[in-house]
Amino acid sequence: RPHTQGDAQFLEDESTKIFARKVADHYSARSNQTLEEREASPIIHLKKLNNWIKSVLIQLYTRRGDAVLDLACGKGGDLIKWDKAKIGYYVGIDIAEGSIKDCRTRYNGDADHHQRRKKFSFPARLLCGDCYEIRLDKVLADDAPFDICSCQFALHYSWSTEARARRALANVSALLRPGGIFIGTMPDANVIIKKLRQEEGMAFGNSVYWVRFDEEFANKKFKSSSPFGIKYTFHLEDAVDCPEWIVPFHVFQKLAEEYDFELVFAKNSHEFVHEYMKKPEFVELMRRLGALGDGNQDQSTLSPDEWEAAYLYMSFVLRKRGQPDKT
Ligand code: SAM
Repeated sequence: RPHTQGDAQFLEDESTKIFARKVADHYSARSNQTLEEREASPIIHLKKLNNWIKSVLIQLYTRRGDAVLDLACGKGGDLIKWDKAKIGYYVGIDIAEGSIKDCRTRYNGDADHHQRRKKFSFPARLLCGDCYEIRLDKVLADDAPFDICSCQFALHYSWSTEARARRALANVSALLRPGGIFIGTMPDANVIIKKLRQEEGMAFGNSVYWVRFDEEFANKKFKSSSPFGIKYTFHLEDAVDCPEWIVPFHVFQKLAEEYDFELVFAKNSHEFVHEYMKKPEFVELMRRLGALGDGNQDQSTLSPDEWEAAYLYMSFVLRKRGQPDKT
């Protein structure tokens, strides 16, 4: 029945686009906070912890002079982290027009912004676009290859369909040099599904977040359904209110292998904290960021609800196969 199939395909494409727009509009509408507003946020310590995790990933895998691709860069919250790592070039892309505008302002030196600082020492290109739809190898042909690609708290937005999940990986793979690194942080599907199964209903959460699955997943038997398009709504107080999609990690890893990636590691945020808080330089970084107090290896300054929200996330590092050119 080609006609019906065509319609179904069309409908799927339309709703996928509508959801991508919903996500973009949500992030576009989020305005910049003042320093005072930020410090008063109910998830301020979680935000600081997530910044620490991103900083650790960047410090572990970036070398001076690297060319960096920041997929879903948002308002450019990681620009300073990349500057500290002394990168040579930066390309940032995000689907949210408002976020890219803020990112440009931040890069160009914003007099109103609390982080008054010297200019960034690397040249940058900032673009607005859908990283999971566009062929970035064409758009960025003159900027590639990149040494490192980062996709922080955003890759799960590509798992609405297989085509988008594949486009995301194909884009990163095509733009990284052999041996290049892909780092990211995203929701930990194992934790989310485990928590859902512990509940009677289709939702769970605490004072800072909630997760609600659509009724179509009422049987909670995700193994029998397609690994793509498993949608839930995520609410994180003072941060997110969006449709999101489960990324079953074993499927992600397999798909990544198809695009020439090998897994270096994948760690839940709790495990990540315990592992890297064994290293004095990262304890010191944690102290400076003020996320966990005086270097304790626990959640001392995060509220228990924030610490539970941290458990919803994981970090991954993938390496593009092949040997780097000797220069
Ligand atoms: N990476 C930034 C950070 O860590 O601060 C922003 C993270 S924010 C939680 C998620 C970002 O993903 C938003 O800026 C959003 O606009 C972006 N995003 C979602 N879907 C996207 C897409 N299809 N293409 C590009 N960016 C996307």
